Amino acid sequence: MNPTTDPPAPAAPLPPAGEATPRCGLIAIVGKPNVGKSTLLNALVGQKISITSRKAQTTRHRITGVRTEGAAQYVFVDTPGFQTRHGTALNRALNKTVTGAVGDVDLVLFVVEAGRFTLEDAKVLTLLKPGIPAILVANKLDQVHRRGELAPWLRDMQQRHDFAELVPLSAKAPKDIERLLAICAGYLPEQPWWYGADELTDRSERFMAGEMIREKLFRLTGDELPYTSTVVVEKFEEEPSPKHKRMVRIAATIVVERDGHKAMVIGEGGERLKRIGTEARTELEKLFDAKVFLQLWVKVRAGWADDEARVRSFGYE
Ligand code: GDP
Ligand code: MG
Repeated sequence: MNPTTDPPAPAAPLPPAGEATPRCGLIAIVGKPNVGKSTLLNALVGQKISITSRKAQTTRHRITGVRTEGAAQYVFVDTPGFQTRHGTALNRALNKTVTGAVGDVDLVLFVVEAGRFTLEDAKVLTLLKPGIPAILVANKLDQVHRRGELAPWLRDMQQRHDFAELVPLSAKAPKDIERLLAICAGYLPEQPWWYGADELTDRSERFMAGEMIREKLFRLTGDELPYTSTVVVEKFEEEPSPKHKRMVRIAATIVVERDGHKAMVIGEGGERLKRIGTEARTELEKLFDAKVFLQLWVKVRAGWADDEARVRSFGYE
């Protein structure tokens, strides 16, 4: 792992000839819980499964989705200081050098509920870094019944922070999402794409399975497990099924560094491993809209994190 490489070096996949200069950049979606960040992310990415890339675990950002549209590639990331739900131990470990401000992204989408601004929103707002353009996304516009009150509220918001744009919208309205994407495109640097346009969907479910298991692994082992532990998806196969409209068989190995870590993952009488498996499977079934069979193993592979070649083969760069 190269701790200074973030984002990954351009693989230089280019948009089709004749189109505008390619643009590509990192976008962070931030905001207090329940303002609609996940809804917005899923709508922006435009597919049900938003975690996509094998390069997701970089040192500072966790990529949560990529959208390629026309000449623009939007890479959405979770940002240190804003992880609210998943992979906290892992993210803490990966991000321990970062101060907690939104840095190193090209654009921030600061999401609030239209017409509202609470102390919690204000706290998130203080984390925005000067110099990085931020767009105020005033979400849930459909719930604002007195539109006339919105103008003074927007003016008030503009006083609180020097937003590059103020965009009232509903994350659930496809037209609004297209409009927001078009606005965001202007903030992406002109540079080659990092991912092929088709690289994303092909790998996404397999990749997502690994991410989901990883998330459960770290959540259920707390801070005890070193972040060098990883998950390798050995098998990801879709099978025909007379009973289910989709059926997916997944086999994955949790690779740890020491016997002690293995015991920690397995837990008393296998309880913890079982729980990791059950929780991951349940969520994957919802995500994939499929029946999922998940087999998990735990293996000890001492020192793998120091072995460049092996690290690469596990999907890190
Ligand atoms: P997060 O915690 O910021 O990720 O918020 P979620 O995306 O989980 O959304 C929280 C709730 O707000 C969910 O019940 C969403 O369905 C709802 N929501 C999100 N966007 C909109 C919107 O534009 N309009 C309305 N009415 N509800 C929304
Ligand atoms: Mg969310």
